[in-house]
Order: sequence, then C-alpha cells, then structure tokens
Amino acid sequence: KPVNLFALFSNRNASTPDRTLLETDTGQSFTFTDLDHHSARIARYLRELGLSRGDRVTVQVEKSPEALCLYLACLRGGFVYHPLNLGYTPSELRYFIADAQPALVVCDPSKHEVLAGIAEAAGTGSVLTLDAAGHGSLSEGAAEQPESAGPVRCEPVDASRDDLAALLYSSGTTGTPKGIMLTHGNLISNTETLVDFWQFSASDRLLHALPMFHVHGLFVAIGCVLASGASMRWLPNYDPGKIIEYLPECTIMMGVPTYYTRLLARTDFSGDVCGNMRLFISGSAPLLPETFQAFEARTGHRILERYGMTETNMNTSNPVDGERRPGTVGPPLPGVEARVVDDQGQPVANGAVGHLQIRGPNVFAGYWNLPDKTAEDFTDDGFFNTGDQGTFDDDGYVSIVGRAKDLVISGGLNVYPKEVELVIDRIAGVSESAVIGVPHDDFGEGVVAVVVPQASATLDEETIIRGARADLAAFKVPKRVFFVDELPRNTMAKVQKNVLRETYRDTFS
Ligand code: ATP
Ligand code: MG
Repeated sequence: KPVNLFALFSNRNASTPDRTLLETDTGQSFTFTDLDHHSARIARYLRELGLSRGDRVTVQVEKSPEALCLYLACLRGGFVYHPLNLGYTPSELRYFIADAQPALVVCDPSKHEVLAGIAEAAGTGSVLTLDAAGHGSLSEGAAEQPESAGPVRCEPVDASRDDLAALLYSSGTTGTPKGIMLTHGNLISNTETLVDFWQFSASDRLLHALPMFHVHGLFVAIGCVLASGASMRWLPNYDPGKIIEYLPECTIMMGVPTYYTRLLARTDFSGDVCGNMRLFISGSAPLLPETFQAFEARTGHRILERYGMTETNMNTSNPVDGERRPGTVGPPLPGVEARVVDDQGQPVANGAVGHLQIRGPNVFAGYWNLPDKTAEDFTDDGFFNTGDQGTFDDDGYVSIVGRAKDLVISGGLNVYPKEVELVIDRIAGVSESAVIGVPHDDFGEGVVAVVVPQASATLDEETIIRGARADLAAFKVPKRVFFVDELPRNTMAKVQKNVLRETYRDTFS
C-alpha cells in the first residue's frame, strides 16, 4: 500500500515511464520520467534551502508543467503544498501568508516584490520565482541539483499517510477562506476511488483546462491521470476554441458548469468533435438540468455530475455505467458514507431535505489554526457536517439543494432557494436565476430573485412573480425581482450569494 501520494503515481506509471504523459498546446511534452526527475531536483533543492517535512510551501504561479513538478516535489519531500488563486490581491495574500506561515513562497516574477514584502512582514520564509514558461529562481536552483537515476529514482519520498500533503483554502464563497488540512491518506484514498469508479485507464486522455489551485483541477483531474497511467492535453486556461480543437484526441474532460454552457454557446461545437470522448464530468457548482439536456441534444453525451468540496474531495458521483440523473450528484462513492439529518441530528426520510454529512477516509484532518471550528463541524460519531443541504431519493441518489447558509427563513418557514430557482428557470425567457433572503421587518427575511434574462427576451417583475405563483406556495414566491446581465461568480463558477445579499440588503427597508 503506498503511503505517499507520489509513490502511488510512481507505482502506476512504473511499466510505462517513458510514454508521453503530458502535452501542452505549445508543443512541449513530458513523460513520467521527466516529471520524476524534475520534481526530484526541486525536492532536493528545497531541502538544501532548509525546508523539512511539514513545512508549508505557498505557491502563486501561472499553470505550467513546472508548477506541476513543484506540486509533485512537495508531495515527495513531505512539504505541505499551499496553492493560491492568481487573482488574489495583496491584502488577501497578506492574510494567507500570515495564516499559513510558509517556509517558502514561490510566485510569478511580477509579484516578487509584493510577496517579498508580505513574507518579510509576516516573518516567514524566502521567496522564489516561477513564470508561465517555467523560468525563474526556483528552476535555476533546481537545475543545479544532480539528476537522479536508477533505484533511487523515486527518492525522496519522505512523507507518509498521516502527514499533510496540502493546505488548501476553501473558495471563500460563504466568507473568509478556511485552511483545510489534507493528508496523503485522504488524497490516496479519494484518487484510488475515482480512478476505479470513473474507469480511468492507460488508454484515456484527459483535456485539462482547469486551474491548478483548486481540488478539481489539482487532485481530481491530475490525480486520476497520474494514478492510472493515462495522459493529458494541458491548456493554460479555459478557452472554448481550444477545447473544440483538442476534444477529438481526448477521451475525458472535466469542467465547471460554465465550461459546458460556454461550449454550447458556440455554433462550431457539435457531436462531431466528441467522437473519441467517453466522459464529460462536471462539478464545483450545480449543473442546471437545462444544460444537461442541451448538451445531450447537441452531442449525445450525458454529462456526469459529481459533488465534492475542499474538505472531503469527492463524495458522490453519477455512474459511468448506469443512469446519470440530471439535477442529482449521484450516490455516495464507494467507501464514502453520506447521511442527511435534521437540526437535531436525526436521519430524515428519503425525499426530505436536511444537512448532508460525510464520513470516510477522504475527510480532512481539520481546519488549519481553527480547532474550535473543526470541533463544531464534526459530530460525536465522526461525521463531517458539510454545510450543504441535500436529499436522498429512493435509489440512493443525492441532490444538493443548496447551502445551509443560503437557506431563507421567511415568516418562520424554510424556503430552499434551489426549489424557487428551478421554477423561475422554467419561465420562458429566463436564462438563470439566484434566490436569496434579505432582511425584512415583518418576515425576518424576504425572498428576492435575481434573474438573468435570455439574450433576446424582455421580462418584467410581474411575469416572474406570476410564473412563480403558479408552482409555489405563497411564502416561497419572491417579493421582489431584479434583472441583471450576469450573476456574480468566483473563479470556480460558484454564484456569490453573499455578494447578492449585500447588493440587495436594503430592498425592504
Ligand atoms: P467556502 O467554504 O469558503 O464558503 P466553498 O464551499 O465554495 O467556499 P469549495 O470547497 O471549493 O469552497 O466548494 C465546495 C462546495 O461547492 C460544496 O460545499 C457545494 O456547496 C458546492 N458544490 C460542489 N460540487 C457541487 C455540485 N455538483 N452541485 C452543487 N454544489 C456543488
Ligand atoms: Mg465550503
């Protein structure tokens, strides 16, 4: 049994170490041996700089094969990989660096000055650079390390199962991002489960267009490829034209829902480019049933939706063989326990909505620096309370209804935003919607709908309210409707309901 995630990757590529594993859109290509050697040099260099097991390495760089090698170097050296969204501003970076207390920061050369100042003020380690082309002081230092070969090729592999592999901060959709401690054991178990469940094999080729600072692109996408001997086409970012160009050579794509809606918006996207594809996977945010249906109509493919979070990696997934149900995230993955409970912690009947809780080897080791929050979010019998609300159907498929924090309580009655959104989305001329609760003197919270009309449609408040009234009890019907061109989303395509609540907070005052 591998005790280090890198050792798992190494084992799974042992029989074909010199096959092309990663190809960029600029003609670079890498075998497992290349990644192995390069990451070994980086790991040795970091050790030489004085880093030791458990030290955090904060990384804010463009996506590149060298950045991937830095991640692998952290795994094998036992350093804790701490990736950051490139969009973070200096004041956000100050928070992350002060909180993570890294022994080393690796950043894009354009951020060097800012980060050096922040690191110094926080009393943390040195700062190295890595640019989009793979150049910088990190690569220069690594290049001076001896090339590894022969039986020691996989050294160093220092960390073991219970050691931290990564410190990943949540997306910050509901508040300040929380540091999430993930062990090698957490990642090994989820990676092995996904490779089996999604039937990854050496004949697969993944189209990798996701960012590398989040669970989806980092552990799910890269993990499945490296732990199955598959290969990947590597794009620096999501560009629908490039997706269409490279889909014909690929068998699997992973994306957030907007990747699929933006593909559907292209007239040159059709089933013709999907001839080799066996799986389109969606997650990180809810996939609208309309998108699922439009995608099937256009390509013949039923998008496979799965559900996960930074704290747990993947929890549930629709099946490869068997029915993929739109609007659901499928049954719990093998080895992952899921239950839905009421406010008192008692399991609810199938069909009823409650708090979704998870237990299994995939569940994280706790929030970084937040022991009270960690204790609060686990039950006495070891389930993690996800903060999501969901329901089981009679066949064991889970549907995510929304986040507990987004639940609207109006006049003492629970309004699940998702239920109202689904009704509004069916009204002619509506593209999508977000339902929120904002302060209301009489009701505590009043239901507000924010609606994105389809390009050609003219809609008014009255039409939406009338449409909602036809299908919903009066207390769920929005009291006000606002129209916008697009909903505020973060990089992982998640609708920022806290931003909407702020925007419309004075609606009833
Ligand atoms: P924060 O915890 O800082 O508020 P976040 O929860 O958005 O941010 P992530 O860990 O990136 O940070 O996201 C996990 C959340 O994403 C889940 O708890 C769930 O609400 C949502 N999610 C992921 N996949 C799906 C899906 N298929 N359908 C609906 N929601 C999903
Ligand atoms: Mg969260």
